[in-house]
Amino acid sequence: MRNFDNERYNLVVIGAGTAGLVAAAGTVGLGGRVALIERNKMGGDCLNFGCVPSKALISSARVAQLMRDASKWGFERTEPQFDFATVMQRMRARRAQIAPNDSQERFESLGVDVFRGQARFVSPHEVKVGDRTLRARHFLIATGSRATIPNIEGIDSVPYFTNETIFDQLNDKPRSMIVLGGGPIGCELGQAFARLGVKVTIVQAAPQLLPPEDADVADFIQRRLEEEGIDVRLNASATRVYRDGSDTVLEFTNTQRVSAEVLLLAVGRTPNLRALDLAAAGVDYDESGVRTNDYLQTSQPHIYAAGDITNKFKFTHTADFSARIVVRNVLMPLQLLRQKVNWSAVPWCTFTDPEVAHVGFGEKEANVKGIEYDLFRVELAQVDRAVVESEEAGFAKILTGKGSDQIVGATMVGAHAGDLLHEFVVAMNARVGLGRIASMIHVYPTLAELARKAGDQYNKTRLTPRAKRIFTWLYSQGR
Ligand SMILES: Cc1cc2nc3c(=O)[nH]c(=O)nc-3n(C[C@H](O)[C@H](O)[C@H](O)COP(=O)(O)OP(=O)(O)OC[C@H]3O[C@@H](n4cnc5c(N)ncnc54)[C@H](O)[C@@H]3O)c2cc1C
Repeated sequence: MRNFDNERYNLVVIGAGTAGLVAAAGTVGLGGRVALIERNKMGGDCLNFGCVPSKALISSARVAQLMRDASKWGFERTEPQFDFATVMQRMRARRAQIAPNDSQERFESLGVDVFRGQARFVSPHEVKVGDRTLRARHFLIATGSRATIPNIEGIDSVPYFTNETIFDQLNDKPRSMIVLGGGPIGCELGQAFARLGVKVTIVQAAPQLLPPEDADVADFIQRRLEEEGIDVRLNASATRVYRDGSDTVLEFTNTQRVSAEVLLLAVGRTPNLRALDLAAAGVDYDESGVRTNDYLQTSQPHIYAAGDITNKFKFTHTADFSARIVVRNVLMPLQLLRQKVNWSAVPWCTFTDPEVAHVGFGEKEANVKGIEYDLFRVELAQVDRAVVESEEAGFAKILTGKGSDQIVGATMVGAHAGDLLHEFVVAMNARVGLGRIASMIHVYPTLAELARKAGDQYNKTRLTPRAKRIFTWLYSQGR
């Protein structure tokens, strides 16, 4: 029988979400001794209450909408007939199919010691889980985040869903739903439930949906949601909530109100800090999360933090990306050998239909930061594949540094935008300019031609009147 209390690990990981799992698997794979502590479900938010169930539900919702839109492809429009509970079960079954990748059994088979329970620091070099004390050379805080419960009058006296409850506890189709919050989670789930026959109202405090995006992008998505029957309320700051019969009533901006059978909270994320006793470890943090340097070290250099618990991006792919850096940095004996995190080309996608995909700067952020840029905009209607697929709603905006073809940002709105974005992600990382993208062969007819068309637009700007005069002269000599 092993006595874990005598063990000294290379890495103790707190939290078995994406960041924790990637760091644990990476370190054990390189030969390190790793302990992984999880207080709830293996796989964390992404698998259990986030990306996976939401995208599975969005997939069913898309099919329902395709049936309603069938006339676009020459079929008769039809209202989908379905059992809501069966759709929810399918979502859970899809999730169950992915779950073994993140399971305790799998990680133990890789050689990771998995402990179930809540972890807390008792000193900068010791973590307690249950009655065990684990010691290590390095620690990784990867405890993620949870739904923020807004501080509005009456919130404790009404029933509500969050992302942690809606996927497992909602079985019967509600008549109506208030989605509080118009960020990515609110827009994705609001559209999905609306397509599944729920009367949805999105209540958003900010003046636009998807606040980090440019206004034209947000307006486009808002119009689509409204066309699909969603009531979108902007500049709507929730002030009070109460129960009226079988409905929940939400008051906003003091005078207006909406009511619905259920309320879904999607107003942001709160880092899971409290239980960790970070003071005992001497780790600095604030309400937005644990602070790290560029090496992902906290104020205690042997304690790292990655994923939603940090005050940076809150995505599965950024959690994965930063965990890989932690794996490397834990192994390196000297700071000069450690890798710095580079957040200059972080992509993300909001999986509404159409999708909104983004990397680098949008116009709004570039303007705020005083970055001078040239803008190249391509409508999806200019792309033959989008037209033949009846998917021509959308556009791409590519920003290059002023007077240069170096891409500083790309935003795409359209079908498969999240996949298409990666041409620009690669280009930004490899410093491939928009002009060069135009010179690369793109398969016809694909949606990816959109990137080539943006490149063509850039190249046209290089044709100065003087260059054109020279070409005209050359042609005249060649006739
Ligand atoms: C509805 C929804 C949809 C989303 N969709 C996407 C998407 O499409 N794409 C995308 O990139 N991102 C998406 N996200 C975000 C993504 O889920 C998170 O960014 C990601 O899960 C963060 O991973 P993490 O490892 O930092 O934290 P988590 O996955 O939250 O894992 C942290 C783990 O730590 C555990 N824990 C916390 N405290 C302790 C403690 N003291 N002791 C032991 N264990 C502890 C928790 O139980 C949890 O399992 C979505 C999120 C939501 C809510």
